[in-house]
This record gives sequence, structure tokens and C-alpha cells, in this order.
Amino acid sequence: MSQLAIHNPATGHLITTLGADDASTVAAKAARARAAQHAWAATPLAERKACITAFRAGVVHDLESLAFTMTRETGKPIKMSRNELNGLLGRIDFFLAEADATLATQTVFADGGMTEQIQHTPLGVVANISAWNYPWFVGCNVIVPALLTGNTVLYKPSEYATLTGLEITRLLHKAGVPEDVMICLVGGGAVGAALLEQKVDGVFFTGSYATGARIAQTVGSKFVKLQLELGGKDPTYVCDDANVQVAAESLADGAMYNTGQSCCSVERVYVHEKVYDQFVQAFVATVKSFKTGDPVAEDTYIGAITRAPQLDVLQAQVDDAKAKGATLHTGGHRGTGEGNWFEPTVFSDVNHSMEIMREESFGPVIGIQKVGSDAEAVKLMNDTRYGLTAGVFTPNEARAKAVLEQVNAGTVYWNCCDRVSPRLPWSGHGDSGVGLTLSTYGIQTFTRPKAWHLRKA
Ligand code: NAD
Repeated sequence: MSQLAIHNPATGHLITTLGADDASTVAAKAARARAAQHAWAATPLAERKACITAFRAGVVHDLESLAFTMTRETGKPIKMSRNELNGLLGRIDFFLAEADATLATQTVFADGGMTEQIQHTPLGVVANISAWNYPWFVGCNVIVPALLTGNTVLYKPSEYATLTGLEITRLLHKAGVPEDVMICLVGGGAVGAALLEQKVDGVFFTGSYATGARIAQTVGSKFVKLQLELGGKDPTYVCDDANVQVAAESLADGAMYNTGQSCCSVERVYVHEKVYDQFVQAFVATVKSFKTGDPVAEDTYIGAITRAPQLDVLQAQVDDAKAKGATLHTGGHRGTGEGNWFEPTVFSDVNHSMEIMREESFGPVIGIQKVGSDAEAVKLMNDTRYGLTAGVFTPNEARAKAVLEQVNAGTVYWNCCDRVSPRLPWSGHGDSGVGLTLSTYGIQTFTRPKAWHLRKA
């Protein structure tokens, strides 16, 4: 049996070694998920909801140890691990509250003896291949609504968050979800690729553009539902009438929270020339106040970089920005001790010839660029192949909406950033992906509509 070594990114130390899946165990697991699907779909929704309610209770009960496990294997500061788990509870509550109405069969026509109805039937067996940065969120955005709608789930957590993936699976089984209905696969990209060789009815992927594009090529000719939630290079524009201090503090948090390893991290900041110097000063002061350190410590704000190869990406972006004339205000180096560390880094005087303004950083590194007008800000915000989120800071609602209506992004923010709501669809434009999770659309997406034409004899 092949093995998967799990390391603590904050120290580099081995946490444990797990037995991993291979092509034959993946095939056997897929067969089990297929065999179990009809019975699960036939289980009344009330029973499926009861399992998810019990799962929620299990998360609450084990919250502290689950947070610790996530922190140890990803390097996420412990308070942020707790925040993620508490945020998950709200997402589960939303799905539970909306499932009945969203999944109810709709009568769309009734006239004399003729009735037309739309029934929401499950896709069948769904594959969920997942990222590590918010493993509870991105895992459960798929798993919870997929199970509620009667699908069985083959779940391949990231190799950088496998202990968390196994905890999600354990708690679902403990809550009454049958073992063949929710199945975890252990391993890296090769196990994900083996999963895609199986007959599944939907592929729900969260991860990088590069892997998403590869998956789209593999899955394309199979005609199964495919959703890809990928990376971003999310911009925010600070107008000349904004409260500069508030904007600087919000955006520093939006850029550096989760050590900058959020799909919707603020990755580019454009500031009107009238408030540029003041903004840069306040932003840098806020970033300098963030404490870097042991992710388990309660006052740590900047944790470890989860994947060691990302350190090279960050260093290359920093070196490129420096070489092209950007001004470095703080940071700029990787850590020298054990584990994967990168200093929170702020550049001003950046431009779009620099990688730091073009490619996803996915770390605590940010560029701030001066602009002369709203029109210039819109042009620069749209100068990207991605389109996940974008924001504007100004007290003027009409001005914010005029800017945001022109920006190509699945989510837009006025005076906020780095925010996800279970009530709103989460989707990307361009290379940020296809499909969506969350909101009632994020329940329906695990179903296919069946059209009923019913004539009384
Ligand atoms: P990744 O693409 O390296 O890995 C994602 C998953 O794909 C992992 O489980 C991995 O094992 C698997 N995988 C790798 N190669 C595969 C293959 N050939 N076939 C099938 N599966 C394969 O991404 P990551 O480093 O885990 O995640 C970081 C990325 O995820 C960032 O770009 C981030 O922006 C993005 N992300 C997006 C969202 C969103 O909602 N849009 C949310 C979280 C993260």
C-alpha cells in the first residue's frame, strides 16, 4: 500500500503517515458509492436532514480538537481555525433551512386533466476534489448539499488537509450517514486523477487553475456535470472620498487573513492619488502590527505557508517587483528557521508589468497601485484573466455601484472584502472557474430537473 506523509508546515516535522489509496482501491470505493446511491436517494429528506443536524452537533462537540487538527496540518492560526468551524455551522444551518423548499417538486402548470411538474432528482455519485486552505468550508460546501439532495459522495481532500478530511468523514458516519454514502479517498493528485477515471455523475473541484484546466480536459468528453472553483487575483479600489484608515485596516486584513491563503484574499489594491500616500502609510502600519508566530498561539495572526513550493512563487513575485522598481515597505523574505514561513510583505509603486499584479500570490504579499480616476481603476481591475471578487471603498453608494457594475467578477463588495455568505452564490468568472456553490443555487446544483407530463386518464 502506498503511503501519505503528513507534515506540520509550521515546523516541517512529520505528524503521521497514512495508508493511501491507489487505482484499485479507488475503483472499489467508487463501486460502493454507486451501489449505495439509490437507497440513499430513497431515504426521506427528513432523515437525511437529521444526519446533517447530528453532524453539526458533532462539529460543535469536537470543535476544539478539530480546530487543533486543522491548525497542525495546515499552519492556520488557531483562532482562524475556530472561526472557520463556527462559520461552517451557519452554512449548515442555511442548507438545512432551505433544503425542503428548494428540493420540493414544483407544479408549473395545471389545467383540467393535465399537470406539469419539475422534480429535483440527485445527480447520482459525485466526486469532490478539494483544496486545503479552508478545508471545512470547501469540503462541506459540496458534501452537505450533495448528501441532502440524495447523492453519494467520493471525497478526495487535499493531501495537505487529509486529517481534516478524515475528521469530516468520521463525523458524518457517526451522525448516521452510511459508510458507503460518504467515502473518503486518501492521497495526492494521482488519487484525484484515479477518481476521475471512475464513472461519476458530477465532478466538483476546488483548487488551482492549472489542476482545474487538466480536470476539465479529462472530464469534458464524459458529459458529467463539472464545477471548478479556482484561484483569483482579487482587486479593491479605494476612492478619494473613502475613510482611509478604515479602508486600510479592512484591506490589510483582507489581504493577510489566513496568511493570504484565501481564494478571495485581496490581491491587488488601487488607491486614488489624492489619498494614496495616506493609505499606504496606514496599510503598512496595520500589516506591521500583525503578529507572526506559532499557529497554535492565541495571539498569532500570520501563520505558516501550507505548501512549501509556494515559498518560491512568493519569492519570485517579490524579486520581480523589486527588479521592476516597486517600493518595498515591509517583509520581502522567507523565514530562515524550520517550517514554511514568509514575511508579510507590502509593495507600493507597482504596475501591471509585475507578476505581483498579474498572478495569484496566495500568500501574505500585496501590491498597492496609484490611480487617477474611477475609469482607470475599472480598467486595471478588469486587466486580469481571473474574476472571483472585486471591491470598492467609498461612502458614495452610487459611485461604488457604477464601478462594480463594470467589473468582471462573480462577487462584488462595497466597503468590505474577503467575505463569503451562505445565502449568496459563490462563483468565478474567467479563469476563476465555472459553476457555483452556496445559496439555494448551491443546493440545486447537485440535482438535475426531471420533467413530468401527467395526464389523468
Ligand atoms: P491544487 O490544484 O494543487 O489541488 C487541489 C486538489 O486537486 C487537491 O486535492 C489535489 O490532490 C488534487 N489534484 C492535483 N492534481 C490532480 C489531478 N491531476 N487530477 C485530479 N486531482 C488532482 O490546489 P490547492 O493548492 O489545493 O488549492 C489552492 C488553490 O485553490 C488556489 O488557487 C485557490 O485560489 C483555490 N481555491 C479556490 C476557491 C474558490 O472558491 N474559488 C476556494 C479555495 C481555494
